[in-house]
Amino acid sequence: MRTFYDAGIVGGGVIGLMSAYFLSKAGIKVAVFEKGKIGCGASSAAAGMLGAHTETERADAFFRFAEESASLYPGLSAGLLEETGIDIQLVYNGMLKLAMTAEEAASLRDRAGKEPDVEWLSRDSVLKKESNLTEDLQGGLFIAKDGQVSPSALCRALARAVQINGGTILEGAAAGRIQRAEPSHYEVSAAGETHYCEALVITGGTWSGQLFGEVGISAPVHPVKGECLSIMPDGFRLASTVFHESCYLVPKSDGSIIIGATMEEGNWRAEPTIQGMSSLMEKAVSIMPCIKKGVFQKAWAGLRPAASDAKPYIFKHEGMKNLYAATGHYRNGILLAPKTGEMVRDLFLNRPVKEEYEREFGLNRRTEVKS
Ligand SMILES: Cc1cc2nc3c(=O)[nH]c(=O)nc-3n(C[C@H](O)[C@H](O)[C@H](O)COP(=O)(O)OP(=O)(O)OC[C@H]3O[C@@H](n4cnc5c(N)ncnc54)[C@H](O)[C@@H]3O)c2cc1C
Repeated sequence: MRTFYDAGIVGGGVIGLMSAYFLSKAGIKVAVFEKGKIGCGASSAAAGMLGAHTETERADAFFRFAEESASLYPGLSAGLLEETGIDIQLVYNGMLKLAMTAEEAASLRDRAGKEPDVEWLSRDSVLKKESNLTEDLQGGLFIAKDGQVSPSALCRALARAVQINGGTILEGAAAGRIQRAEPSHYEVSAAGETHYCEALVITGGTWSGQLFGEVGISAPVHPVKGECLSIMPDGFRLASTVFHESCYLVPKSDGSIIIGATMEEGNWRAEPTIQGMSSLMEKAVSIMPCIKKGVFQKAWAGLRPAASDAKPYIFKHEGMKNLYAATGHYRNGILLAPKTGEMVRDLFLNRPVKEEYEREFGLNRRTEVKS
């Protein structure tokens, strides 16, 4: 049997699904090829934070992209609820970035003076907001604008909306051989069939490097493993997301708290370890001592897809006809997904895209290795 699509999207994580969503809403006939279940990669491991201000410290192109992406969430959330009946659990409970030392306090206070959307809180004000935090703190930044969603609900809602818009979601469909068939399409072997796609969008997360290799492009993407766990706190509810250095506590709608996340370059094993759990628990208890009375729920791990400069690739290939990619979203794929999907659609339809985004996320940008 021959199946034809306008666009074949390889990888059904949040980035592939969001790209499929924007394309299908624009009337493009899409198919998403997912080797496992939709959202089974890094997307299902994410805590769901939309931390435009927490994750970036400079007002650069990346920050503007992140802010624009975050601003798309309210409309997206309402639209998906109406189209699919699925609530992606968008909430704005704010983020508290803690300062434990005088040095950290000086640096965060300095940021509060420069950025309009962040507020410096004294030690007492922080403790008034979250009375269970350690008293060993100097103060913190409160970022009311940074919200969160449920990544799994988001992936489910996007997949459903794509289907409603006439798109095809193929699970258990690993794209094996991908061939450019001149003059005008790509042949994708998946789930025992050959699928004919006029255009190809590579959204394979950590596995995108291999997919790039299939079409003759060299753009390495490597895994940065992250581990998380969730607990049900004993007798209190955390109001805001709390951050300190490499540890965060994210309150979820059922009262549970996600504690994340470790960072390990180059590890392909997406399994939680005793070492990862113990380092997270130790850090979390130092931030909020009473968390040790919480009931352990579960632990998991995922592979963040990262380019060497830690910036995503979002491009239309200049030499290869109808080849697109959106990958390498590293720590911020949930946050960056809506603007990424919109940009993929605009590149696809030859609509204007901000030059700074094309330059920043292009295949041939100048890469500086981020340490
Ligand atoms: C512990 C952890 C916490 C995180 N927390 C946050 C957060 O709070 N906020 C945030 O914004 N980001 C967060 N992230 C980052 C975010 O999860 C990622 O940036 C994002 O999920 C990347 O999405 P993706 O679609 O590119 O990749 P993935 O979700 O990995 O999707 C890629 C998909 O491609 C499929 N695939 C690969 N090869 C093939 C093939 N040949 N054929 C078919 N399918 C294929 C895979 O099975 C996979 O499902 C976190 C990540 C981790 C690990």
